[in-house]
Amino acid sequence: MSRIRARFWDPTGQRYGIPTYPWRMAPPHLLTKRQLAAEGLRPGGQGVQAQILWSSTRHGAPGVRAAYLYYRRFALPKRTPSPAQLAALAKATAARRTCPGCRTDVGYVLPRHLGTCLDCARGVAA
Ligand SMILES: [Zn+2]
Repeated sequence: MSRIRARFWDPTGQRYGIPTYPWRMAPPHLLTKRQLAAEGLRPGGQGVQAQILWSSTRHGAPGVRAAYLYYRRFALPKRTPSPAQLAALAKATAARRTCPGCRTDVGYVLPRHLGTCLDCARGVAA
């Protein structure tokens, strides 16, 4: 094992507080949120169980980066919205598209800074 990798090799969490693995060396039962999502899962109630640490010079700020890991066996299926939830969402977006000035659904979400549809805003300005 190289020195760089040994630096982040801490499966017992003695050094870092939680089990820590170098890039590409985490055991297969520990997954990131994104990996869980790819299997239709979410972390559920469990907190972060372990982490991957690596040094990176990308994204502007060089330094140690972390990816948090969760147990697959404690993961829960992703929630799919119920018809009632979808209806509530549709209602909420409809409200955001309805202009208080001309009382019509203008087909786009009203710009917050105007508070009305573009036509009404232009009418007020003119
Ligand atoms: Zn309007």
